Amino acid sequence: MEGIEALIKAGEITRKVKEEVARMIKPGAKLYDIAEFVERRIVELGGKPAFPCNLSLNEQAAHYTPYRGDETVLKEGDYLKVDLGAHVDGYIADTAVTFRVGMGEDELMEASKEALENAIATIRAGVKVREVAKAIEETIRGKGFNPIVNLSGHKIERYKLHAGVSIPNVYRQADTYELKEGDVFAIEPFATTGAGHVVEVPPTLIFMYVRDRPIRNVHARRLLIHIKKNYKTLPFAYRWLQGFLPEGQLKLALNQLEKAGAIYSYPILREIRGGMVSQFEHTVIVEKDGAHVTT
Ligand code: MN
Ligand code: MN
Repeated sequence: MEGIEALIKAGEITRKVKEEVARMIKPGAKLYDIAEFVERRIVELGGKPAFPCNLSLNEQAAHYTPYRGDETVLKEGDYLKVDLGAHVDGYIADTAVTFRVGMGEDELMEASKEALENAIATIRAGVKVREVAKAIEETIRGKGFNPIVNLSGHKIERYKLHAGVSIPNVYRQADTYELKEGDVFAIEPFATTGAGHVVEVPPTLIFMYVRDRPIRNVHARRLLIHIKKNYKTLPFAYRWLQGFLPEGQLKLALNQLEKAGAIYSYPILREIRGGMVSQFEHTVIVEKDGAHVTT
């Protein structure tokens, strides 16, 4: 499949799944069931998950994905970020939506949603990423919330979810990169009632292959081969590996691979003051006179 065609197909898949998953969001629903549903539907619709379905609650901004045995359920009033991605031949669509469980959209959610709309409205070839960041920051602050300064949108390339260039939520963090026709970017404004900063907290439930390294332990070595073959250079879930090795061995092996620099870990990102976090995200293809939203 041609690049652009695959990008569009991946986007269509995520759009469909986003629509379908909305029906599952109610008090009592299990995060595990939601994540498994999302990833299964991506495959049924002809794609592959580009990364584990992230289901981050309330003060968690990103990188929570349930594990097998996870009993976490949704409660009324929870802010749930559903961040999902599909790829077709390595061409990625990355998109996210925030739900308020059992309730409608509120101002915090509107802040990130409108920031996304305003950011997309600035996009065309020749625009600098700091102009996009400015639209995000001004929209969120204008609504009385804080943008999260150390989270950002990102350039996407084939089999590469984070391809170097960032689109931060604040102007002063942004560089002078100029958008080019054909560039693919994920735009993802994060708004919070907290201080506007995230910190890493355990546990780590998402990882990514980085490079081959000499690994002494046979289980870890076998695990690395498995990871590389199945997930290539895209992030994977701890959940996806449960059963490949017994629990204790799996944790040990992942630890060894990370220490050796063969894999990278993505701990949960939590708002530093425990503020509530809202996120909306679309993937866009930069065009001469605008943006083609694929998701
Ligand atoms: Mn995302
Ligand atoms: Mn993203």
